[in-house]
Amino acid sequence: MIVVMQAGSSEEQIDAVLARLGEHQLQGHLVRGAERTVIGVVGAAIPPTLKEELEHFTGVTETLRITQPYKLVSRELRPADTVVNVRGVEVGGNRCVVIAGPCSVESEAQIMATARAVREAGANMLRGGAFKPRSSPYTFRGMGEEGLKLLAQARDETGLPIVTEVMTPNDVELVARYADLLQIGARNMQNYQLIEEAGRTGMPILLKRGLAATIEEWLLSAEYIAAQGNHNIILCERGIRTFETATRNTLDLNAVALAKRRTHLPVIVDPSHGTGKWYLVPPLALASLAAGADGIIIEVHPDPDRARSDGGQSLNHANFAALMPKLAAVAGAVGRTL
Ligand code: PEP
Ligand code: MN
Repeated sequence: MIVVMQAGSSEEQIDAVLARLGEHQLQGHLVRGAERTVIGVVGAAIPPTLKEELEHFTGVTETLRITQPYKLVSRELRPADTVVNVRGVEVGGNRCVVIAGPCSVESEAQIMATARAVREAGANMLRGGAFKPRSSPYTFRGMGEEGLKLLAQARDETGLPIVTEVMTPNDVELVARYADLLQIGARNMQNYQLIEEAGRTGMPILLKRGLAATIEEWLLSAEYIAAQGNHNIILCERGIRTFETATRNTLDLNAVALAKRRTHLPVIVDPSHGTGKWYLVPPLALASLAAGADGIIIEVHPDPDRARSDGGQSLNHANFAALMPKLAAVAGAVGRTL
């Protein structure tokens, strides 16, 4: 439910509403916008009479039900775009962000070379997996903490904030010590214990869409994180499973445009996992920005043919550098910057 306060309502009036919610064991989420201040009320046990009860409070304009099953992340509650700050890089503002780096951190030479190359080309953040969810247990599963240390070293040298995946609730504390943006992988989108634990750090979270998740399920997972009091959530469309096998996944750009309409959270796109083929990454990256994405996350490797994971969908340094001016042109065409 949304309690809409009158423009210019006083702190006492807002506090009175929050206090009444407390009497019902409900927590109010205060959203101060440029135009209006609203209080979001969520919970399993909202009494049926509460709506009418609060409408009589002084300073309250009206109370509205949130029609979507997700509440705190819904645009109904917060019409203005949320901007997530990742160590000084804003995601969700007018500027589209580019996150680039290898699928996995493999060695100091590899991560440092790619970090320098992508920064040189104009990327805003560095990606790299240290804990890798792999379909086969016999493939490279990441360097673990050693990989996190190498990412931190790359950040120290280049200044690029780092994005890396956390796979278990037990690892959240460790990964959070190094990362600037905690990635929740597609396979873990509905691992509610993991996403709540990650949410409780208060850190920015990159929530990838599950490979068979509906848009509503994806936004409900974001709601789990927001319900922990953490609104620093960036959504990432990374392709879904369909009948099509010619590409690794089917990149769902519908989801980008629809999610932007349904939620105030920033939405970025991963065309690398979305297509699985390096030569499809540039066109789909451009299409993503044209469709309204707030940024893209791309796999880049110094020598994709020798990559220990996802080489076939990774751009080499030259191809990544060549893509950047085209991304800037598309961003400009849709009224944004890069
Ligand atoms: C990745 O980013 O390397 C990754 C494993 O992504 P996803 O969870 O989308 O498959
Ligand atoms: Mn990958």
